[in-house]
This record gives sequence, C-alpha cells and structure tokens, in this order.
Amino acid sequence: MRIVFLGQPGSGKGTQSERLVRYLNIPHLSTGDMLRQAQTDGTPVGELAAKYLTSGRLVPDNVILDVVKERLEHDDCRRGCLFDGFPRTVPQAKALDAYLQSHDCPLQVVLQLHVPEDLLVQRLLGRGRDDDTSEAIHERFRQYEALTKPLVDYYGRQGLLKRIDGTGTPKEVFDRIKEALASVGPAGPISA
Ligand code: AMP
Repeated sequence: MRIVFLGQPGSGKGTQSERLVRYLNIPHLSTGDMLRQAQTDGTPVGELAAKYLTSGRLVPDNVILDVVKERLEHDDCRRGCLFDGFPRTVPQAKALDAYLQSHDCPLQVVLQLHVPEDLLVQRLLGRGRDDDTSEAIHERFRQYEALTKPLVDYYGRQGLLKRIDGTGTPKEVFDRIKEALASVGPAGPISA
C-alpha cells in the first residue's frame, strides 16, 4: 500500500507511522529522518539541509525530491511505502504524483491526522527534540498553514483523503487508522 501521512508537528504522526509500517510491513519514508541522518553522516545533502533544519524552514523542493526519488528506487519500496513529512507542498505532491504515475504505482490513500493546536503545542514542548525551540515550532506551524494545508484540498479533490481524529491514546488513534484503511485495496503492480 502506498500512503501519504499528513499531520501537524506534534500530531502523533511519527508514533502512528511507526506502528503502521510494522502493521503493513512497508518501509517508512520520513523525509525529516532522512535529512537528519544525512546531516549526521555529513553528506552534501546533509550540509545543505542543516540551516533549514535548525530554522524550521522547508528544504527546497528540488533537494527533497531528489532524496525521495533516490529512496524510491530501492527494492523494498516495491510493495509500497509510507510517506511521512512528504509531500509538504502542492508542487511536491504534483511531482510525486507524476513520478508514481510514470512508474504505474499511484498513491492509494492519504491520511490526515487531526489534533487541536493547543494540544499540539503542549505535546511539542514536552518531547524536547533539538529543533523543538518555541521559535522553530512557530515557524513550522506557519509553514504548515501556508503550504501544507492546500495539500489537504489537493488530495481531497482526488478522493484520496481520510481524516483521522488524533486525540486519545495511541491505541485508540491506531484503531481509527486501521478502520480507515480497511476499505483501501492492495498496492497493485509496480513496473519500474
Ligand atoms: P520533520 O521531522 O518532518 O518535522 O522535518 C524536520 C525538518 O526537515 C523540517 O522542518 C524541514 O526543514 C525539513 N523537511 C522535512 N521534510 C521536508 C519536505 N518534504 N520538504 C521540505 N523540507 C522538509
């Protein structure tokens, strides 16, 4: 199954993604994790991404697209994958659609994890990641409003969007996700 997972920072998307990839046995393509790893490894992409990561601004589309496409070439993505943190903008979504269509393996579902904003801030300040300064958190909210919300409309128009209530225990949220996925078919053929 090929899934895009949308959700504000702090929505629980990371936790639910991990459960979901174990449940479906598909790779987890978290662009944030990929960039942080590139930074740790000191690759050219990592060096380029560093200043965006610390400020909470988005890495340029062409950079992120190269990173994702390279990852999609790996064999483990043939049975599907979960996109987490990508696409973040409509141009990224359009580029992903074009790429997947040219490989005859379109997206099957887009999950949107919804949590009220006051609860989001509470959760973010609690997790204490290096880039969770209140400045970076607010910048990420701002970017989400401006760039990512239009994705919800974009995928809604394609009939792919399923909105999930992200409040409650992780198990309650995961049960809602499984229920939402029950009506989605298998991944279908991939001709590389
Ligand atoms: P995340 O772990 O998803 O919160 O991402 C952390 C940071 O990585 C973001 O604040 C961006 O600087 C960068 N990033 C991750 N995914 C993307 C993306 N799809 N497009 C642009 N920048 C991204």
